[in-house]
Amino acid sequence: MAEPTVFEKIVAREIPAEIVLETDRIIAFTDINPQAPMHVLVVPKTPAYRDVVELAAGDPDLLAEMIQAAKAIARERGDGDFRLVFNTGELAGQTVFHAHAHVLGGSLGEGSLA
Ligand code: 5GP
Repeated sequence: MAEPTVFEKIVAREIPAEIVLETDRIIAFTDINPQAPMHVLVVPKTPAYRDVVELAAGDPDLLAEMIQAAKAIARERGDGDFRLVFNTGELAGQTVFHAHAHVLGGSLGEGSLA
């Protein structure tokens, strides 16, 4: 069996995280290395999908729930607007192979595509 990802360990409370939202199917917590004033990771609890493409194919409702959670978090912790980033594949910077969304807000920042 594959080694549990760091996100599975956070879901299982084996390592600590600043959890900002949790439902039956998703968990959201602040990124340990923030790239914006608000940087939250929204993660499905299941480790079944290694990236957003697999998730979209396998459980589109779960992806939709993650996007609605991102909106709620941005309203609660920022001004309501946000960027959603899904690094997909090693060459694109993905380091944790457990599907997740980066929710970034608070300023456009240097890496902005705007
Ligand atoms: P990726 O590079 O795969 O798109 O994003 C993984 C993210 O997980 C990175 O932004 C990284 O800072 C974050 N991360 C890695 N390990 C931990 C951890 O133990 N706790 C938290 N809160 N975030 C983590």
